[in-house]
Formats: sequence, C-alpha cells, structure tokens
Amino acid sequence: MADRLRAMFCDHLSLMRGKYLPASKMKSDATRMARPTFSVHWDKDLILDAPHTKCREGIPDMELRWDGAEIRDGWEPETKVVTGDLYDSDGARLPLCPRGALKRAVADWGQHGLAPKVGLELEAFAFAIQPDGSLAPLHAPGGIVYGTGPFADPVGFTDAIWRQAEASGFRLELITAEYDTPQYEFTLAYDGVVKAVDEMVLFRQMAREVALKHGILLTFLPKPVLEKGGSGLHVNLSFADAAGNNALMTGPKGGPDHLNALGRGCVAGWMQHHKGLAGLLAPTVGSYLRLQPASMSGYWCNWGGDHRGVTVRVSEEGGPKTRLEHRMADASCNPYTAVAAILQAARLGYEGGYALPAPEAGDCFDRTDAGQGVAISLSGAMDDLAADTALGNAVGRELVDHHIFMKRIEVDKTAGLEGAALRDYYIWYV
Ligand code: GLU
Ligand code: MG
Repeated sequence: MADRLRAMFCDHLSLMRGKYLPASKMKSDATRMARPTFSVHWDKDLILDAPHTKCREGIPDMELRWDGAEIRDGWEPETKVVTGDLYDSDGARLPLCPRGALKRAVADWGQHGLAPKVGLELEAFAFAIQPDGSLAPLHAPGGIVYGTGPFADPVGFTDAIWRQAEASGFRLELITAEYDTPQYEFTLAYDGVVKAVDEMVLFRQMAREVALKHGILLTFLPKPVLEKGGSGLHVNLSFADAAGNNALMTGPKGGPDHLNALGRGCVAGWMQHHKGLAGLLAPTVGSYLRLQPASMSGYWCNWGGDHRGVTVRVSEEGGPKTRLEHRMADASCNPYTAVAAILQAARLGYEGGYALPAPEAGDCFDRTDAGQGVAISLSGAMDDLAADTALGNAVGRELVDHHIFMKRIEVDKTAGLEGAALRDYYIWYV
C-alpha cells in the first residue's frame, strides 16, 4: 500500500515540478503552488515581467488538479505518481498549462470526430558523473548503432530502466543503442495523446532518476556532444475514428502514394508551419546545433516516404499501422506543447485545404528539394514563431507569448556559452 503521492506537472521549461503528499490525497484532488513558477528560469532567476504569470500581482497561487483514476504506480518505494491540469485561483483553466493546450488540441480534432494518437521515440546521451561532480561521456568503446548488451551499456543502467519501466507499468516498445556512443533510444507504445505524453514525461523522469542511481546523468539535451549526432523526440501520429479504426489508413499499404485527404492535410499543415513549429518543438539553444542540414533531424521543410532525411516521414507500413512521423522535436521541448503544436499545425492544414508540395526526391545529403529549413538559432526560431500568428493562436496565445518572452531571455542568458559550458547550463535539468 503506497503511503504517499508524488503529484507533478511539466512546466514551461519541461521540468517536472510537484510535491509529495499524504495517502489521503490518493483520489481526485488538488494542491496549490505559486503561479509564478512559470516565471522561473533555468538559473532560478524570477522573471518578474513574464506575461500571464501575475508575478507583480502578489505571486498568487495556481492549482494542480488530478483525476484519481489517473494515479499510477511510481518508481520510488511506497510512492504513487500522478500528473494533472493547472487552474488559476478563480477556478478557470490556467492559459499557461501545457497539458491544457494539448487537451484543447484534442478537443479541436474531436470536432472532426477524430481522436489523435501518438507513439513517441526518445533519444538520450549518457554521461558518467565523476567523483568531483564533473561529467564524462559514459565509457562504452564497444558501442555500436543498434548495440545491445554490456558493450552498449557497460554499467547496465538501461537494464535497470527496463526493469523499472516494467514494474511501474510503462509500456516500452524498445530500448537500443543509437548511432552515436553513448547514445540510446527509448520508444514508448502508442496511445491517446494525453495519456502518451503523460507516460513520456513520467518515463523520462523515471529514466533519469534510475540512471542517476547508477552514477549516470542521462540527458535528453538535443546536442550535448558537439562532435556527435543529436537526440530527437520523434512523434508518430495517427487518428482513431468514431469506430476506433485508424483514420489515416487507406489499405494494406502506407507511404506517400497512399495518403488520404486527412494525411495530406496534416503534412501540408506541417510544411506551411515548418518554421513556426521549430520555436515550440526545438526550444533550447542547443536545438539549433542539432537541427542542421544532413542530420536526419527535421531541419528541412520536406516530407517523403521511408526517408530519414525528411522532416515528415510517411511510414510505408499501412493497414492499422498507417502513421505519419514528425522528426523535428527534441526532448528539451515541453512534449504537451510540442504535440499540441504538431496537432494544431496539422489541423490548420487539413481544415484550410493547404496545398501539399511534392515529396522529397533528393538524398538530403548532396541534394534536396526543400526550399527552406528552420531558423539557425533559438533567437531566429522565436522570430518565426512570433510571425506565425495562426499557429500561435491555435496552440494558445498566452502560452505562446509567454514562451517567446522567456526564450528570448534564455538567448540573452546563454550568449557566449559554447561546448561544455552550454551543455552544463542545462544538463542537470534536461
Ligand atoms: N538522432 C536523430 C535525430 O536527431 C534521429 C536518428 C533516427 O532516425 O533515429 O533526430
Ligand atoms: Mg532514433
């Protein structure tokens, strides 16, 4: 019998904040925290003028409310975990709540009789924490792409994550070593979007905490090692129709030649809002070290079939597995906001009947048909996001305005930081 509840939410920086609460809270309930938690920056600086945080209005409360049915097994002894939605002190939904933005996106698609579902792929690097507290990439000289076993993970921290995931009821699809060493991939099972993102933020937290017990700092930073590849958060999307069938499915085959109007509309929306999306999907300074041409990471405004050089990959798997993969995000994003943005850009494309450009025909190393990429910096991405008012309004004006304001400050705070100094600005949190 668990004797405490760890209630958390995922904030604007994608940090899990919360409290331990007594067993009496193990039902639908709430707890209060200061609303200007949304004014706090990475360096703990309180940004008094952060919009919609009411920092200058007495640092009032907000309320985290959860559904008792969503309380689940945690990964610490005698401790259950839950996440929930944020409300302001008047009982209205807090406009800055990322989970609220995702629920709005789900409701908007609900108007079409469709329920979005996602499967999320997470990539991460492992650093060994040295006795003096400094970090060194985990020594795994035998690591290879798709490596398994002790050559890939000599300390067994991924085995411990697997075991804990099983014990805690996370639905892992796979763990493997990624292209670079020491880099790993964790893929979570498909589910309705809110449930899948809840699972992702809790899994990410659990994985980092289990790794820490093995002396490993597992980081989801997009580019923690400059000379190696980046880490992404790939979002695989499909929709269930009213009968529960995959609404993207046209037959036994997938791929660009078998897209229906729904699939074409989603891809067209992502192409049109490509630059604006980056500010929400790739929201840290290092995101733009990852998002580069020829990096398999969602830089180019392009789409295609089974092609890792494009941002939107239309899986060749068809039937019930028909899906679209959006490859731009990295896991330094708030995944509620990022998936909300992906859903809203897709909806704008579908409802607006946007024209779909031709699929990529180049190899994306020496040649591409993509006319444009994302911005080359976080600063440029904020300009692009500010300019994309349709996307910002759809995701939530207040949330996006707050995001742009805070991220512009992040650009100033990190000016001049490079390499390990930039990495260390974020790495203990991401
Ligand atoms: N690591 C790549 C990224 O930054 C993706 C590699 C892959 O296709 O899994 O998104
Ligand atoms: Mg991968």
